[in-house]
Amino acid sequence: MKRLLVDHHQRIVDYLRVSITDLCNLRCVYCRPPEGLQLVSHEDILRYEEILRVIRVARDLGIKKIRITGGEPLVRRGVLGFIRELINVEGIEDVGLTTNGVLLAAMAKDLKASGLSRINVSLDSLRRDTFKVITGRDNLADVLEGINSAIEVGFNPVKVNVVLLDGINEQDVPHFARLTFEKTIDVRFIERMPFGSEIVPNPPDSFSAQKAVEIIQLKVGKLQPVDSEPLDGPATMFRLNGALGRIGVIDPVTGHFCGTCNRLRLTARGTLRPCLLGPMEIDIKSALRRSASRDELAQIITGAVLAKPIGSICGRGLMKDGMNMIGG
Ligand code: SAM
Repeated sequence: MKRLLVDHHQRIVDYLRVSITDLCNLRCVYCRPPEGLQLVSHEDILRYEEILRVIRVARDLGIKKIRITGGEPLVRRGVLGFIRELINVEGIEDVGLTTNGVLLAAMAKDLKASGLSRINVSLDSLRRDTFKVITGRDNLADVLEGINSAIEVGFNPVKVNVVLLDGINEQDVPHFARLTFEKTIDVRFIERMPFGSEIVPNPPDSFSAQKAVEIIQLKVGKLQPVDSEPLDGPATMFRLNGALGRIGVIDPVTGHFCGTCNRLRLTARGTLRPCLLGPMEIDIKSALRRSASRDELAQIITGAVLAKPIGSICGRGLMKDGMNMIGG
């Protein structure tokens, strides 16, 4: 009989987001702690075989989908070999990757060949100067090349995730929306969540997903609602008439985000995180390192699922870690 992981609020948890590194090659203003990256020693980061062990046990419990994230997952050595092993884990039906795209152009072909199902690229501006202001780096051309390479090698759609930053990227919204006319991409606008770890004293606020919708309707065209697919996650989906790709909005700040949450997170430091927006982390690394039994690991994973809260604490400024530490 197929096992199901169900939390205290009757949500089925079948999706594990796996951060494979805290390190990143960008320095996004809303993602990094002001004191710089807290260096975690190599020894403290889960080895690939440890991550695969957690995944196999989680699979036995009901996890079917995996997303590899970070930090920036493509900077970790051996990531292609890891993905190939992961794809071969029987019962894992879908493996996706979230990347900032900087190293994607050179790796897209091998990522496709590895069996990876889906790629999300994070990109908050299509203007070079603004990209630099947001990320601290001058890599816009690399990211755009990465997106095109991913399309060329056959990822369809490539999802482009845009974090909405008040006073910074409003004018990018119509440009991103227009890209869906010419490319097989889904552009998804995401409200910035208020973590307590940003690099600047007054980090940019988000503007609302609703405002992004209004900008698009005003400057580009009517957004037709389309049915969301299971793989769209919490996004509300639309299409511009005649477009190849779709447009999505994700509203963790202004919307109701938690009722359908189906995910658990494994951090690179070997903790399970029941909720993106809550501070709780449950250690699984110690158990892995003392070669705990499968049943013990299963109990830790089940405990993390049962610890999932129903509502987020988003907006109360209690999250001290940045996304680089949590795995976005
Ligand atoms: N480096 C990869 C990337 O850029 O996609 C994966 C990790 S990154 C932490 C994952 C996503 O989290 C990115 O799309 C990033 O923009 C998003 N993110 C980081 N901090 C955020 C915040 N405070 N609110 C909303 N999204 C955030």
